Amino acid sequence: MVAAPRAVRPRRGAREGADSRAARDAVFEGGAMPGQGYGSAQDHGHVFTGSPLDRAGNERRDGAWIEGQHAKPARRFLALRDLEALVEGDPAPTVAWLAPAELPDGAPEGEAVLLGLDGGEPRFAIDLTAVDEAALAGPLADGRRFAEVRGVAPDLPTDDTAILAQARSLVDWHARHPFCAACGGATTSRNGGLMRVCGDCDAEHFPRVDPVVIVLIIDGDRCLLVSGRGRPGSNYTCIAGFMEPGETVEEAVRREVREEAGVEVAAVRYHSSQPWPFPASLMLGCHAEAASASIAIDPEEIKDARWFDRADVARALDFAAGEIEGESGLDFGVPAPFTISHQLIRAWTSEAEGA
Ligand SMILES: [Zn+2]
Repeated sequence: MVAAPRAVRPRRGAREGADSRAARDAVFEGGAMPGQGYGSAQDHGHVFTGSPLDRAGNERRDGAWIEGQHAKPARRFLALRDLEALVEGDPAPTVAWLAPAELPDGAPEGEAVLLGLDGGEPRFAIDLTAVDEAALAGPLADGRRFAEVRGVAPDLPTDDTAILAQARSLVDWHARHPFCAACGGATTSRNGGLMRVCGDCDAEHFPRVDPVVIVLIIDGDRCLLVSGRGRPGSNYTCIAGFMEPGETVEEAVRREVREEAGVEVAAVRYHSSQPWPFPASLMLGCHAEAASASIAIDPEEIKDARWFDRADVARALDFAAGEIEGESGLDFGVPAPFTISHQLIRAWTSEAEGA
């Protein structure tokens, strides 16, 4: 019997309270195998998921409609500068939406990307990177500040992080694609920023999304975690890697796990996904069963790979979530709750508790 998925929308990824913990546990009641009987990513409350905006996919193909959105008095702007986002409020920050009159001189409003509609009113992302610093006094009034998205995301409402993921990926893509990859001609934004068209050869260019598989390998009562070369200290996480052209999710999981840890994989089950806008990844979270146990790491890719007991991993998760005072008493750590890696591991340990 598989429990019906329930909507779980914790307001803060990293500050999970008792209510959201209870709701999260409810998702896993019924002892479902990891990866079965789960709802959408939104149900998991992952950071960067669950945007409340209507993306207006059909309307935005109409150029006159887009022009109309740019003229609406209630339009608001999410400002980015060097890919940092304007936020306000401390210690509980939110995205700072600027009114048209609050935009600085030189703000490229015509280039603003239409993120979507909030209650029918347009919400744009605008890149202020090229704006003179002296003109930023208005946007930076009242304690507003530009914040690095990865750093501030755990403290923002989840809705805001989803909007930021869309905004950061799109603003970055536009900044990198002023010219046509086919002929080198200048491109211009269309459809409110969901495509660019070459003025010379009419080629259409679309924002990229880069799929990444991320997987927790399970062998009975233990799981396989790796320590990446770029990771400080003794942090261990799920195996992850970019998918390659012509590959299924299952094939990518098997290849990555074999390449990084030398472990063979049996069944692969999809769990949930998470946009990761650095710059445009989509994390495809999976659980998979190990078909072999001995580890042979690729030292070019990772520092270490180990099997960890479930009880130790559960304690490491609680420590990463700030639920344990002082020391964890473990010789390893796991990623913070706002990562899908943490949530994949949590789903496995919670499934065991509920069984
Ligand atoms: Zn071209």
